[in-house]
Amino acid sequence: MVDAPAGAALPARSVRSLDEHAAAVLALAGPLPAVTLPLAAARGSVLAADVAGAVDLPPWDSSAMDGYAVRAADLRPGAVLDVVDDVPAGDTRSVRLPPGAAARLMTGAPVPDGADAVLPVELTDGGTARVRVEDVVAAGAHVRRRGEDVRAGQVVLRAGDVLGAGAIGLLAATGHARVEVHRRPRVAVLSTGSELVAPGEPLQHGQIHESNGPQLAAAAAAAGAEVVAVAVVHDDVAVVREALAGLAARADVVVTTGGVSVGAYDVVRDALLAGGDAQLVHVRMQPGKPQAVGILPDGTPVLALPGNPVSSFVSFEVFVRPLLRRMLGARQVHRRTLTASLATEVRSPAGRRQLLRASLGWTTGTPVATPVGGPGSHLLGALARADALVDVPEDVTHLAAGAPVAVIDLREHDA
Ligand code: AMP
Ligand code: MG
Repeated sequence: MVDAPAGAALPARSVRSLDEHAAAVLALAGPLPAVTLPLAAARGSVLAADVAGAVDLPPWDSSAMDGYAVRAADLRPGAVLDVVDDVPAGDTRSVRLPPGAAARLMTGAPVPDGADAVLPVELTDGGTARVRVEDVVAAGAHVRRRGEDVRAGQVVLRAGDVLGAGAIGLLAATGHARVEVHRRPRVAVLSTGSELVAPGEPLQHGQIHESNGPQLAAAAAAAGAEVVAVAVVHDDVAVVREALAGLAARADVVVTTGGVSVGAYDVVRDALLAGGDAQLVHVRMQPGKPQAVGILPDGTPVLALPGNPVSSFVSFEVFVRPLLRRMLGARQVHRRTLTASLATEVRSPAGRRQLLRASLGWTTGTPVATPVGGPGSHLLGALARADALVDVPEDVTHLAAGAPVAVIDLREHDA
């Protein structure tokens, strides 16, 4: 049996709108310093500087087809040309094509000097010593000109661009093995609650499996952060304080769940208040009303989210993720939003902005948002199906089925 902590009077909480609290959280940190990473480690990172192409793309005139390098002026139906060379992709010789001749070429092979067109093999008899022209092409046909795509020295990506698969391919093609990006934020997650037991362990009466830690670690990794620790502690203020200090030493941001409300065992609240620079907040939202933010003694920001799994999920989305994206250097720190048609009627409390888990679908091109799971913030059953949050403004208490609603799109995009 644990003694209930002495009931010291709690400081007043600031009451904030969701946007006000999100802005306060965003102000806690800026983009992290630049590091140089090999391309293979850079997916999802954000460029810290503009990048210029190191070579022309293509680097030389190249063939867009399998066929023959020719001079277009030599072509007429029925003409027969000597095949004087065979140029596969990867051939590094400098070849010169004499007038009246052809050189066999594969797609991606360099077009010989003197040639001004590629005659596709389909327009010939396919000959190897001599080739018969069955149809003609104009000068320039099927030749990819040096630098027509990208010029050496041309800026191809800008600081703030997120490196998705396309950007990684472009960097490789333009000659970059390494790239300068913002360091990824290191995130430590701390779950608090004496009822928590590791998943896989048997549950005794009164115990539940710890799910916020794995959930937030996954969300932080998906946001581009490096998760350095996922720790669990009992509801003991001294233990929480010690854990916070240990995690802060290794992380750029500490995210906690649980213990931030008004109860007798709300130990994160008490640990933060004892530690100095902390603010308890009531955010006019549902779920996610009790929140706290603070700066730990070593200067590391800590975001304390409520313990209910749906509350922590939504709080991460609207408060933590934008901060992590900012630290990562992203220009756009917020998720994409869209307008959807509401599949079912929704009721919402006055004066609370409600973020409802929903599943997105499409009927003939129109997005439809179907709320999933009940209103309770303990209801995890449908969380996996939620790929959107329906955003109901503070002053709206009822939305009819079919009403247009703002939706935060939780689906992952590469950039
Ligand atoms: P609290 O914010 O600590 O009052 O917790 C609110 C509710 O969330 C309680 O029912 C807790 O048992 C539950 N909860 C808190 N932390 C976790 C966690 N890490 N995993 C699953 N449920 C939790
Ligand atoms: Mg708790």
